[in-house]
Amino acid sequence: MKTKEADFAIIGGGIVGLSVAHGLLKQGASVLCIDGTDTDFRASRGNFGLVWVQGKGIKTPFYAAWTRDAARLYPNFVSELSEETGMKINLSQNGGYEYFIDSNALDERISEYKKLKSVLNGDYPYEILSSSEIRAAEPMVGGETIGATYYPYDGHLNPLQLLKALTECCQKWGLAHYLGEEINIAKKKDGVFRLVTKKGLEVSAEKVVVCAGLGAKKIGPLFGFMGLVSPQRGQILITEKVPPIINRPSVTIRQTNEGAIQIGDSQEQVGLNDNETQAEMSRIAQNAIKVMPKLAQLRLVRAWGSLRVMSPDGLPIYQQSTSMPGAFIVTCHSGITLAAIHSATLSHWLTGQKNVPDLSQFSENRFYG
Ligand SMILES: Cc1cc2nc3c(=O)[nH]c(=O)nc-3n(C[C@H](O)[C@H](O)[C@H](O)COP(=O)(O)OP(=O)(O)OC[C@H]3O[C@@H](n4cnc5c(N)ncnc54)[C@H](O)[C@@H]3O)c2cc1C
Repeated sequence: MKTKEADFAIIGGGIVGLSVAHGLLKQGASVLCIDGTDTDFRASRGNFGLVWVQGKGIKTPFYAAWTRDAARLYPNFVSELSEETGMKINLSQNGGYEYFIDSNALDERISEYKKLKSVLNGDYPYEILSSSEIRAAEPMVGGETIGATYYPYDGHLNPLQLLKALTECCQKWGLAHYLGEEINIAKKKDGVFRLVTKKGLEVSAEKVVVCAGLGAKKIGPLFGFMGLVSPQRGQILITEKVPPIINRPSVTIRQTNEGAIQIGDSQEQVGLNDNETQAEMSRIAQNAIKVMPKLAQLRLVRAWGSLRVMSPDGLPIYQQSTSMPGAFIVTCHSGITLAAIHSATLSHWLTGQKNVPDLSQFSENRFYG
């Protein structure tokens, strides 16, 4: 009988699959990864590039804490990756803002943060900036801005460089990486999973982790998962490159390491459609100009649409299959932000280590009944 080729087979080689693979390889596990084709929807190649804590988990403190802890792990994660690969990831993590143009919305946010901070035993170090404080900190800010929230671990990076560095690091550490292959058959026999792709490639492993993004809808059920992911479109605008004019990122506007201003705030329910639309691009640009009026002077040079991978409540799903033990699903909306914790902590959950926080609140069970 053919024995297993690897301890773990990861289905999906986006940011989530590779972060998990990175953590497993670091622990000494043997890992293979099967990744689909360029015609798949791939959030890891179309996202905004924020490492972002504020605003997340306001009503679910365990998720706020998970995100906060992920951001804290980031500087080490990135410097280890850069050291290992010699690649720059351009992480800038000196805090970030959420701008407000409506005083009721700001008041509501302040009261939410107060509650959250108290539930998290004071470990939620946000600050509130008045209109004059934020204008002094960010000279581009003006227009209708009445204040901002600030969170010190927020930051941004080049997400494509992160993906490339993770790929290179994992391959260097022995990842067997199969590209352009779509798993469509899965069986478990004698304690070993056998996975077969559409083109007929067969691989085997003791455990399987489904990290297939939107592809989990189709292949999740092969392992007994509910396949609850659905798409949400975001459109992103890119201006011409300019010298540094924005000090810190906000949740909708940031200046990339190359100088372009990146703008995006759309959350559209349009199914499996990642097109750009002129109406939405205009709305995004108008909103940005309300906060930073001088952006109107810059030329837009590029735009794209990309699909988020959403669970019904927007929180990650981490679950071991009950009908096929040894198969796991890992999916989340904020895969860039969570990359460091997926590598450092979630990978320990997958190998059954004891030093892992209780992740049961992220299980699929929350959607039953
Ligand atoms: C517009 C936008 C902005 C965003 N901004 C941010 C942000 O600022 N910060 C942040 O933290 N997150 C952000 N995100 C979210 C983040 O990009 C995603 O959480 C993350 O990329 C999801 O990664 P993934 O690996 O799960 O999915 P994907 O990147 O979609 O990768 C899934 C992979 O699985 C493969 N696959 C699918 N089915 C199969 C199969 N049957 N067999 C083999 N392979 C398969 C696909 O080919 C694909 O490569 C944003 C997303 C969008 C769309």
